[in-house]
Amino acid sequence: MINTTYKKRVFLSSPHMSGDELRYIKEAFDTNWIAPLGPNVDEFEKEIAEYVGANEAVAVSSGTAAIHLALSLLNVKKGDKVFCSSLTFIASANPIIYQGAEPVFIDSEPVTWNMSPDALEKAFKDASDEGNLPKAVIVVNLYGQSAKMDEITSICDHYNVPMIEDAAESIGSTYKGKASGTFGQFGIYSFNGNKIITTSSGGMLISNDTGALKKARFLATQARDPAPHYQHSNIGFNYRMSNILAGVGRAQLRVLDERVKARRNIFNRYYQELANLPGFYFMPELENTFSNRWLTALTINEEEAGVSVGELLKALTEENIEARPVWKPLHMQPIFQGVKYYPHGENENISEYLFINGICLPSGSNLNEDDQTRIINCIKDTVSIGNERKRYV
Ligand SMILES: *Cc1c(COP(=O)(O)O)cnc(C)c1O
Repeated sequence: MINTTYKKRVFLSSPHMSGDELRYIKEAFDTNWIAPLGPNVDEFEKEIAEYVGANEAVAVSSGTAAIHLALSLLNVKKGDKVFCSSLTFIASANPIIYQGAEPVFIDSEPVTWNMSPDALEKAFKDASDEGNLPKAVIVVNLYGQSAKMDEITSICDHYNVPMIEDAAESIGSTYKGKASGTFGQFGIYSFNGNKIITTSSGGMLISNDTGALKKARFLATQARDPAPHYQHSNIGFNYRMSNILAGVGRAQLRVLDERVKARRNIFNRYYQELANLPGFYFMPELENTFSNRWLTALTINEEEAGVSVGELLKALTEENIEARPVWKPLHMQPIFQGVKYYPHGENENISEYLFINGICLPSGSNLNEDDQTRIINCIKDTVSIGNERKRYV
C-alpha cells in the first residue's frame, strides 16, 4: 500500500468561485428572498438567455430536471421512443425513463466523439419503416465539444422530430459562432458542482419558444392552476432554482469567459507536453467550433504508448490525482441491458472504443501550474517505465 495522504489531492474539476458570489447571497438574505424564485432567479434567467442568444431561459434545480421538463413539454409519454447519445452521463437518459418512454441509443463518430449522423440516420430509417418515429432526439455535447449540428439538425428536420440539446458540459462553447445549447427546440445547461460554472446544484432550460417555457415554469412549480386556493389539473414538479443559488450563478456567469480561457489553456499545456508521446490522441476540436474544453480528454493506444489507460489511472491515483475514464456508454450499462443501440458503422463501435481507451485529466479552471506539472510528469514517468518494461520482455 502506498500512502498518498501527504500528497496534495488534485481534483478532476472542482468548483471555482469568483469571490463575488457572497454579495449576491447577502443581497438575498438582506431582502429575505430565501424562497425558490426571487430577483436573482429572474436576473440569472435573463443573463443566461442574453449570453447564449436565446429568447428565454428557466432556472431549475438541476440539468436533469431541465431535460425532464423538455421531454414533458414535448409530450413524451409511455410507449414513445426517444433517441439519445450513448456516450454520456446517465442523466441524459434517465428522464426518458421517468416519462415511461423507451430510449434508443446512438453511437458516436470519431471526430467530435458525439452523436454519429450515420447511426442516427439508420435509426430514423428503421423507425420510419416501422411507422414508429421517436418523439424526440437528445444530443449531447461531450466535454464541451459540439456535436455535428448541421448534419444532425438536418436529419431531425427531415423527419420532423424535435431535438433537445444536452449542453450540460458545453456552456461557453460555440458551433459556427452560435452558442452551444441553442440548436434544438430546447437546450439545457447544468450548474452542478463539477461543471465549468456552478450554483452547487442547478440547471437551466432554454428555448426560443416562449410559450413552451411559460408552461415549463408552470410545470416546475407543482402545476398550480390560477386560483387563490390550491388547485391542480396537471401533475407538475418541484423543480425551480432557489433565489440564493441563482445569486451564485449570477456571479459565476460573469467569469464564464475567463473560466473557458483557463480550461483551454490547461488543455493546450497538456497537448504541448503529451501529444507527441506515441499513441496519445487528444479529443479533436471540430472545424468552425469552439470548445470550452470542460475536461481534457484523450485516447491512448496501448500498443503504441506502451501503457494502458488502466495503468495510467492507477499511477495517477497513487499520486492522489483524480483522473477518470471516459463516460461508460449507456448501451453498456447494466440498467439498459437489451436496449436498442445503433453503432456508427457495421464494424465500427466508436463509443465503446472511446470508453475502453479514453481518459479525462484534471481540468479545473483553478488547477495551478505546479499541480499540472505533477500530473504531466506522472504520465511521462509511467509511459517511460512502461516502455522500459516492454524493451526487456
Ligand atoms: C452533468 C450532466 C447532466 C446532469 O446535470 P445535473 O445538473 O447534474 O442534473 C446531464 N448531462 C450531462 C452530459 C452532464 O454532464
